Amino acid sequence: MSWDFETEPEFQKELDWIDQFVREEVEPLDYVLGHPYDVRDPKRNALVRPLQAEVRKRKLWACHLGPDLGGPGYGQVKLGLMNEILGRSRFAPIVFGCQAPDSGNAEILAHYGTPEQKKRFLQPLLDNEIVSAFSMTEPQGGADPKVFTTKAELRGDNWVINGEKWFSSNAHLASFLIVMAVTDPDAKEYNRMSMFIVPKETPGVTILRNMGVGTHEAEGSHAYIRYEDVTVPKDHMLGPRGGAFVVAQTRLGGGRIHHAMRTIGQVRKAFDMMCERVLSRTTQGSRLADKQMVQEKIADSWMEIEQFRLLVLRTAWKIDRYKDYLKVRKDIAAVKALMPKVFHDVAARALHLHGSLGATGEMPFVEQVIQSFHMGLADGPTEVHKITLARQVLRDYKATTGLFPSQHIPALREAAIKKYADRIEREVRAQS
Ligand SMILES: Cc1cc2nc3c(=O)[nH]c(=O)nc-3n(C[C@H](O)[C@H](O)[C@H](O)COP(=O)(O)OP(=O)(O)OC[C@H]3O[C@@H](n4cnc5c(N)ncnc54)[C@H](O)[C@@H]3O)c2cc1C
Repeated sequence: MSWDFETEPEFQKELDWIDQFVREEVEPLDYVLGHPYDVRDPKRNALVRPLQAEVRKRKLWACHLGPDLGGPGYGQVKLGLMNEILGRSRFAPIVFGCQAPDSGNAEILAHYGTPEQKKRFLQPLLDNEIVSAFSMTEPQGGADPKVFTTKAELRGDNWVINGEKWFSSNAHLASFLIVMAVTDPDAKEYNRMSMFIVPKETPGVTILRNMGVGTHEAEGSHAYIRYEDVTVPKDHMLGPRGGAFVVAQTRLGGGRIHHAMRTIGQVRKAFDMMCERVLSRTTQGSRLADKQMVQEKIADSWMEIEQFRLLVLRTAWKIDRYKDYLKVRKDIAAVKALMPKVFHDVAARALHLHGSLGATGEMPFVEQVIQSFHMGLADGPTEVHKITLARQVLRDYKATTGLFPSQHIPALREAAIKKYADRIEREVRAQS
């Protein structure tokens, strides 16, 4: 029987080191540097590179990867425990070499890339010499990839890509983009598209504009891109022809759970601040912490965070156990659907309990509330994941054949009376 909620002492030591390192060395970077992914920024590199070296020395670099790719192959549970610390800081994932979307892009390059693709794109990505973008969503709709129209046509030895993509995060800093395009329009619905690796400098790749999310991003980092006669050699296809959906799923399963792990870090940060505030602020003669309506907010937040964390860690455990994202689809969908709600509700309570200060840019709550919407949209909106979850759940049930439900009490009572009739009669006779 193994049903254990404890962390091994040796790994706890690593977690303690990570916690202290992130609080003391990494979190301060959030306040002095610009974009964590800007590998061309000398100021960023001067501060980030030595920290990355320290992480490598400690053998904590790229912990989402197995030893074949230079990571320790910790598995998802350990990664979850780490990520809930890294989630506190904008810069921590990049300092530890496990930032999205590069982590997911590296995963599919490792899985589907040819030796040449791995050498040219994967290795520098793993070393954070470069960063990448995932270019899937289109302006006319993201939640339903079946409506995508960006196409790639084979002309001689090259693929020629035409179309527009929307919200390709970090494309302005990326060295290459992974682009999903229709290659086989007449094939079955889920076999029409393929993935391509497109070096950013390829002629015809134009960023029309960069959008910022919420109020905090002065310079946007989510690109609206036009691909106009973008020509890449045949060998730039990633994975099999018509296999874009399968390739995307390989990346999105891990990506979603990693977002959830980091979200725990953010939510706990909001919760810690909320607790500190209610103990520190007095109104109407007593601390906020002594008011029952405030206590309810603390209790609700704690329960929601703990429930969410347990679901995330159990899902991570299942991924480690089954090593097959398809077997954990239901759990990942649940985690993905729950994540924005827990994040939103706790951050909103923390904002509210800080009063006017909470609503300003001097505290992180407004940004966190907006980020909760990011978590509800990126990698597919909540509704779509709830649909997946419900469908998966319902597979384990059957419709009744009769007019009334199988648990209809009159029928159950009648069956029970029939089952025990003899024994009851014997008992009654014995007593009389
Ligand atoms: C911060 C951020 C970063 C992102 N980064 C990337 C990236 O790097 N690469 C990339 O390719 N994309 C990225 N995206 C895009 C993201 O994947 C899409 O926003 C998402 O898939 C939804 O697509 P959409 O925005 O076109 O919304 P739509 O598809 O128009 O959906 C809008 C709304 O309609 C509702 N809805 C949709 N489908 C259903 C349904 N079946 N049932 C009920 N209601 C439904 C939901 O409320 C949904 O939010 C990012 C998005 C954000 C916000």
